[in-house]
Amino acid sequence: MAKTKDPKERLRKRCVTLAKKIARLKAKEICEHCGKRKQDGWQMHGSHIYPEGVYKSMSADVDNIICLCAICHVGGFWKNSKNPSWHEDPVYFVDWFKKKYPKRAKRLKQQTRTIVVCDMQYWEDKLEELKVIHSPSEKARYNKDMGKTIKEYLSVELRKKHSKRTRFLRELNNVEKEIEELEEELKK
Ligand SMILES: [Zn+2]
Repeated sequence: MAKTKDPKERLRKRCVTLAKKIARLKAKEICEHCGKRKQDGWQMHGSHIYPEGVYKSMSADVDNIICLCAICHVGGFWKNSKNPSWHEDPVYFVDWFKKKYPKRAKRLKQQTRTIVVCDMQYWEDKLEELKVIHSPSEKARYNKDMGKTIKEYLSVELRKKHSKRTRFLRELNNVEKEIEELEEELKK
C-alpha cells in the first residue's frame, strides 16, 4: 500500500484498517462466501462492497465490508479453478451479496445517494466510533443487536453510556491493544 503524506488520507486509512479488522472478527474470521476458516490456515481479507476509491465516505463503514478468504476475494493462484472471486466475477458476487444480505444491500445503496463531507473531523469521529464498537466490553451487547445498523446502535446505546468524555477517552486508549489480544486468541 502506497504511503501518503496527506494527514486526512492517512487518518482515513487507519479507519479503513480498523473497520476491516472489525468486519473480519465480526464474521469470526470465516469466509462469508465459502465458509473457509482462518484457524485452518486460510488467509482472510476485509473486502469493500462499494469500492473505497469511489465511495470514500463509506470506506470505513463496517457495514460496507465483508470477510472473504483470499480465494473468494482475489482468486490468486486459483484463477484457473472454477471458484468465482470478488475481483474477477463482480456480477456474480454482487448478485450473491444481494441474496445473502438483502436488507443490508438496500441500506448500502441508499447510503451511496447521501452526500457526506469527509473532513478531518469526520475521520476523527469515525475512528472513535470504530474503537468503541470494538471494545470487548461493548462487543457482547453489540453482537446481540446485529439487526441494527452501527450508527443506530451508537446513537441509542453508546452515546448514552459514554457521556463523560474523559472516561470515554481513557477507555479508547486500551482498545487497540485489546483488539490485538483478540486476534491472538483467534490464532490459537
Ligand atoms: Zn471463501
